[in-house]
Order: sequence, then structure tokens, then C-alpha cells
Amino acid sequence: MESLKNQILEEGVVLSDQVLKLDSILNHQVDPVLISSLGKEFAKRFEGESITKVLTLESSGISIAYATAYEMGVPMVFARRKKSITTDEDAYCERVPSFTKGIVTDIVVSKSFLSADDRILIIDDIIANGDAVRGLMQIIQRSGAKLSGLGIVVEKSFQAGARTIREAGVRVESLAKISSLANGKIEFEA
Ligand code: 5GP
Repeated sequence: MESLKNQILEEGVVLSDQVLKLDSILNHQVDPVLISSLGKEFAKRFEGESITKVLTLESSGISIAYATAYEMGVPMVFARRKKSITTDEDAYCERVPSFTKGIVTDIVVSKSFLSADDRILIIDDIIANGDAVRGLMQIIQRSGAKLSGLGIVVEKSFQAGARTIREAGVRVESLAKISSLANGKIEFEA
């Protein structure tokens, strides 16, 4: 998506050769026009997959997952992050490291929102090592639902997350692939 890449170039702030700050469009303030166009693009790419639910992780995935689910006409579920988890038999829980915060959090989805009949599309804002998405994939697997694919706004392709998930046979659609953040410069894959 050229418009997305242009907005990333205009508004992205390279914090290090590993981290890109996108607070003004995705992670703190959201641009509704952009988010709605991302939802339309994901809905188009996964058309025909008979998706029944869109799953994401709070908080930055929510607006994009909502826009996608709205276009698809299906519900959106977001996993909640909990600092400590008391065992809850009514919920699926996975422990995931947080790339940006450097801590481990538990992510939780109520069992009542996922069933074996569901075909799930995972949506997230940015993929780095893939831990957040792998946590969601584990939850889907435990629920018996089918994972139809992943829609990611920004793939940092110099980090291993998306590649290893594709190698495991999962369809991953990324709208912008960043090949490098070295020397303060955002480079996209050709
Ligand atoms: P992963 O679990 O794939 O290592 O990291 C993914 C999560 O960390 C995403 O939910 C995303 O919000 C956050 N994240 C990873 N890399 C970046 C980055 O470069 N910039 C920002 N703003 N968030 C990131």
C-alpha cells in the first residue's frame, strides 16, 4: 500500500535500528481515514476465506481489527493483557514477552468468544519477533477454531517473526514491509 508507506515515511520516528515509533497514526493517536483503508484492504485480501471472527490484542491492534471486522461483517475479539493471572477456567491464557515494554504479560480470551466452528483472522499493528501473534495462535489452537491467516500493518522483515510463521504454513499478509531501520532511515522491501 503506497499511501501507507508514504504516511510511515512522513510520520514514523526511528527510535533505534530495531524500533519504529508510529504514535501519530497507529499506537497513540489513530488516523481514522488510514485505519478504515487498512480494514478495507485486509477484507479484500481475505475475501473468500469465510472468516467468522477477527482476533487481535489490546491495545494497538483494536482499531485496525475493528475496521477489518466491520468491512467483513463479523465480530472482533481482542485479547486482554493481564499483569498477573489468577487461574480462570473460563478463559484461554498465554504468556507472551512484550517487544516494546521488555516485560512478560499474560494475554487472555474468554472461552465464550471462540469456538471450534470459527475461522479466525488475526490482525495486528506491527510484527517483530512474532511472540504476540504466536500467543494468539496458541489460543486459537486450544479453542479448536481454524486460523485462516494473519493481517499485519507493518512487518519488520529484518526480524524473524513473520518469516517463521510463514514457514510454518500460515498465510501472512503485510501491508508494508520494512527491511531496515539502520542509520535512522526507514527502508521498505522492494
Ligand atoms: P512481537 O511480539 O512480534 O515481537 O512484537 C509485536 C508487538 O510489539 C506488536 O503488538 C507491536 O505493538 C509491538 N512492536 C514491535 N515492534 C515495534 C516497533 O518497532 N514499534 C512499535 N511502536 N511497536 C512495536
